[in-house]
Amino acid sequence: MTNSSSPFQASDKPIVRFAPSPTGYLHIGSARTALFNWLYAKHTGGRFLLRIEDTDRERSTKEAVDAIFSSLKWLGLETEYDVVFQSERLTRHSEIAHKLVADGKAYYCYCSPEEVEQMREEARANGLPPRYNGFWRDRDQALKPEGVKPVVRFRTPQDGETVIQDLVQGEVRVQNKQLDDLILLRADGTPTYMLSVIVDDHDMHISHIIRGDDHLTNAFRQKQIYEACGWNVPEFAHIPLIHGADGAKLSKRHGAMGAGEYKDMGFLPEALCNYLLKLGWGHGDDEIISTSQAIEWFDLPGIGRAPARLDMAKMTNLNGHYIRAAENKHLCELIAPFLTEKLGRPTTPIESDRILRGMDGLKERAKTIIELAEGALVYAPLPADYDEKALTFCNDTSKQYVAALRTALLTPDFTHDALEAIMRDCAQTLDIKLGALAQPLRVALTHRTVSPSLFEVMEILGKDETLARIDSYLG
Ligand code: GLU
Repeated sequence: MTNSSSPFQASDKPIVRFAPSPTGYLHIGSARTALFNWLYAKHTGGRFLLRIEDTDRERSTKEAVDAIFSSLKWLGLETEYDVVFQSERLTRHSEIAHKLVADGKAYYCYCSPEEVEQMREEARANGLPPRYNGFWRDRDQALKPEGVKPVVRFRTPQDGETVIQDLVQGEVRVQNKQLDDLILLRADGTPTYMLSVIVDDHDMHISHIIRGDDHLTNAFRQKQIYEACGWNVPEFAHIPLIHGADGAKLSKRHGAMGAGEYKDMGFLPEALCNYLLKLGWGHGDDEIISTSQAIEWFDLPGIGRAPARLDMAKMTNLNGHYIRAAENKHLCELIAPFLTEKLGRPTTPIESDRILRGMDGLKERAKTIIELAEGALVYAPLPADYDEKALTFCNDTSKQYVAALRTALLTPDFTHDALEAIMRDCAQTLDIKLGALAQPLRVALTHRTVSPSLFEVMEILGKDETLARIDSYLG
């Protein structure tokens, strides 16, 4: 297949890929790997490819694959090329395994799993790392047992060392004698991960492999297989994994693991991308980095080597920044599903209009889209009850103040500044501080003790609705 969106075309520009194995959701660490790949492609004018590593057919359900697509779409990290499904390329993988056998770089091994287990036991007993002992490596194939389907094993170099100049980790090396002859093709003819990955990366002309450092040790094996195939070895950049705030490997107890969960918690994709970018990559002291700046500045040497720590408070604050910077109309669209769920119906045109007009005040206070939606409920019919703190302002004195104010509010000029003047006058007449009048009024108008500016809320609600809410409060 060769067309303009074919993921199998060579280029003189970098080609990178994101290669998730479907697990049911897009892990937050994988989202960062995708982001780094995407940014590197954009920064260099190269290509960002997507390969779904779906050889584990049990886990790779349609839902699990769709979850990856929808999270990548939400984050804006989409490929312009056809998606490669690894499961469709198994014939090609096994072709390479057999070619390696023909070239003497791999061999058939007829040992049963039990025999291999025994070899491991023996190695352990001798204080060595458990491993296959190379029994069929140089053995005459004429001695093969009848009726046994062989596996294909890679003839791992036994002398010397394998060195990788990793663009993030620096120079890393392994003594070849520490590695045994790994399986490339299983007895049922299916390829192993190690083989599939390198064949696909080669066929997709991947120039830079940017992925989590949990794959660093695989890179030695992969480099050896590339060389045995006579192929160019791509550059490697292994990025440190994301840990929890306490430094332990990220798990559920540190916070949400799936990118989609952050969407549900009310995060904006641009905030999440900015946060994930800053997690382990820096550009001076810049905290807020737009996508276009990120594309301009992103590089691989700027990625730190230490594991990054997920800090929910920081991420939430950054989200607040992006909410304040977002277009009001866009925010209205984002809160709409939450409001519909809360109200059991979509907002009416009058409510929607109030929310849009109140958005400047609402977004000042919200750090997530959920908080924003909750704030916006002051412009929808209020629940019958008052929250716990608000109840403390439902006493006689508070009501007296609000009753006095109600009379003053029968003014034709129901605008922000006029309302402010009326309230100040009223507080003065009552000989109380403005706040002592404002809190009961806030409770009357919103049933809560926190809200946007009351002058703004009153102006947006209009006189009739304001007085109706006050009357219901006065009882
Ligand atoms: N499919 C692997 C994973 O999800 C990544 C393989 C690779 O990047 O080489 O961990």
